[in-house]
Amino acid sequence: MHKLSEFWSARVHSEDFTRTRMGFMTVRLRLLTCLLMVGLPAWAVVDWMTLPLPHFELLFQARIFCTLALSPLIPLSYLIHFKRERMKLALGYLMAVMMSFSLFCLHSFGSEQELQAGYAVFPYLLITLFAIFPIPLSLSLQLACVVLVTMLLGHWLLVGQSIWSQATLNQVWVLGMFTLASCWVQCGQLNMLLRLYRESTTDELTGMMNRRLLMKQLEQARAQLLIRQKHFALVLLDLDRFKRINDIYGHLAGDAVLKEVAITLGEQLEPDMVLGRYGGEEFAILMYNHADPVLASKVAERLRIAVETRLVKSPTSDELLEVTVSIGIALARSGESTDLLINRADECLYQAKMAGRNCVVVEGQNSARTDAA
Ligand code: GH3
Ligand code: MG
Ligand code: MG
Repeated sequence: MHKLSEFWSARVHSEDFTRTRMGFMTVRLRLLTCLLMVGLPAWAVVDWMTLPLPHFELLFQARIFCTLALSPLIPLSYLIHFKRERMKLALGYLMAVMMSFSLFCLHSFGSEQELQAGYAVFPYLLITLFAIFPIPLSLSLQLACVVLVTMLLGHWLLVGQSIWSQATLNQVWVLGMFTLASCWVQCGQLNMLLRLYRESTTDELTGMMNRRLLMKQLEQARAQLLIRQKHFALVLLDLDRFKRINDIYGHLAGDAVLKEVAITLGEQLEPDMVLGRYGGEEFAILMYNHADPVLASKVAERLRIAVETRLVKSPTSDELLEVTVSIGIALARSGESTDLLINRADECLYQAKMAGRNCVVVEGQNSARTDAA
């Protein structure tokens, strides 16, 4: 179940989800821009058949102008780079161009109300079109307010419609209804996207990040190291003789141990660390501000002790189960592939197992072994 705040503001979304959502929205933005760029001039045929020549000519020029004004959005969309603020600017620009066209129509038709029939619905159409974006409520309402204010000001200044009139009330009411319907669709999309994202990135048993997201984070950390020299350490943790727990106490007990270890590691985590389930009974941590062998091994030692001292109550019997963890640490090198880095951390983990388990091995250092037995 998602929190209500996730539907209200995108600030509470994780960085990775925002990137996923922005990727999704960028494709839709390009598609919508292309559709409008084709639709705007194409609709001139209908104008030609229905409008008097002076109106047709004026509107045709406005249509061409808007099409040209929209065209930079296609190349600019490639500069959004999954950034929320840039996407907001792009949506704002699209809306500004389309609302300018709407105001121009209002101005050119003036008081000839019967001619504006199709054009009067333009702001409502715009609100409806924005329903294709999975945006949170706060942004939908902001966009709807901009449309409403522009529309009312346009009617007041260009047509002389009083702000306190029955017509204004009608417009506010209808736009409100369209906004409500649009928000409903947007929230539905956001809900679906959040659910699919969580299902594809969360480990079902422990609730922590799964291998897919972990690998993505690792790849991003590697890129940051290459571009910004942001060093990090990769920590691999493997539960010791875990198969024995399954064999003796059953898989349910094994699952309970995995969950408890996940909670224990999560409690010890610092804000600049990313924890995920790498495989069966293996976990991985990316340490961003601990890319130093001494510092990394100190933190790993703390994790090892936390797991060792935690007793897990077996769900199948009343026994308290003990579990220990072996840890291998490698520091990332600029330009190196993630596979090679994992391989080096795995090598350290293997050395920790060879050294008798329940210990930490940092690449290039001796094992800091503390035997639990
Ligand atoms: P070592 O100290 O050398 O790591 O020995 P180990 O027994 O931990 O290692 P091994 O690789 O032989 O066994 C891992 C076991 O983890 C095998 C598998 O049944 C168990 N396992 C993997 N995933 C799960 C899971 O989700 N739940 C449970 N209950 N067991 C799991
Ligand atoms: Mg293993
Ligand atoms: Mg193991």
